[in-house]
Amino acid sequence: MPTTNEKARRYKTIGRTCYAANIMYLFLHAFYLVLFLVAKIYVMVYVVAGIIALYLLFFLLIKFKKYFIYALSVGNEFFAFIILATLMLGFSTGFHFFLIGFCVVSFFATYFSTKKNIKGSFLWVGLSMAIYLTLYFVTKFNKPYYEVDAWLELTLFTTHAVIVFLIISGFLSIFLRYALSLEKKIISESRTDELTQISNRYGLYDFFDAEKDKSTKVLALFDIDDFKVINDTCGHAAGDIVLKRVAEVAAQSLEDAFVCRYGGEEFVAVLDDKPQKPALDRLEEFRKVIETEEMEYEGRKIHLTITIGAAKYMNGLELERWVELADQKMYNGKKTGKNKTII
Ligand code: GH3
Ligand code: MG
Ligand code: MG
Repeated sequence: MPTTNEKARRYKTIGRTCYAANIMYLFLHAFYLVLFLVAKIYVMVYVVAGIIALYLLFFLLIKFKKYFIYALSVGNEFFAFIILATLMLGFSTGFHFFLIGFCVVSFFATYFSTKKNIKGSFLWVGLSMAIYLTLYFVTKFNKPYYEVDAWLELTLFTTHAVIVFLIISGFLSIFLRYALSLEKKIISESRTDELTQISNRYGLYDFFDAEKDKSTKVLALFDIDDFKVINDTCGHAAGDIVLKRVAEVAAQSLEDAFVCRYGGEEFVAVLDDKPQKPALDRLEEFRKVIETEEMEYEGRKIHLTITIGAAKYMNGLELERWVELADQKMYNGKKTGKNKTII
């Protein structure tokens, strides 16, 4: 569900788009007006002058935020104008190109509208196609009302071809950019643990797949000792704060390691095991930081310890098995008194 803020932002974008579109339509029709005046096609001059007056009035629709009525009016006006202009000036003036361009715009509008009725877009495509082919056949067998000069035909055809290529590529590129950024956001959100804001287990799967050389890596699974007691004595909210703090300390203290919340009160860290800084030493340092951490919740002191089980990577080891090996070590640690690191 979009938030009120998002809705307001979307509404603002729609308003701005309508405003920009209206100015562009005005310029386009002003251009037609000049062309038809020079070519002395006065009927078209009157038609275009009327349309320009209409577009000036459309600014009121935008001002009063009647975007749907605006889109509908512009759409119908354009259809009517394309039909009229093609019958008057001939198919080779390229007015029909707009019908193709607006099919793209129609899907774009559906995506950004609140109703998202894709059937409406297909209806628009069907109608455009029917008008397109009808215009083709009618003008094939009937001469246009005006025999336009070659210069006018060339100008109109070129203008329309360019505009429609720009419409198609412009709208598709906005759509693509929007979809890509959305995809990125969704992937990132699906890999982030809501409570602690560190990676979740899906992030670990990605990390494991992306990491080319795991030969020097150690996977550590750590679990908060007697966490249930904290929940039971201080409440679930206190438990949540403890989880957040553990995630924070882990990220700080194991700096360059990959850290994630694996589930519940269990975390996974994957770190380098180097002779100058063995993984066991770093994990022990981290365990001690947690042990000495002073936490307070509603006046109560919370003392915290963790048990860490770690396993070195071996060639061909699957992630599931790697976690299992670390889990076995952690289980040994829990059985033999907790608050320790076993590798
Ligand atoms: P051990 O020392 O053997 O690990 O014991 P423990 O009490 O830590 O482990 P146990 O598996 O018995 O309990 C884990 C508890 O973690 C149970 C569950 O309610 C709690 N828990 C899991 N996820 C969350 C969470 O997101 N927030 C809070 N507050 N508690 C959670
Ligand atoms: Mg526990
Ligand atoms: Mg547990």
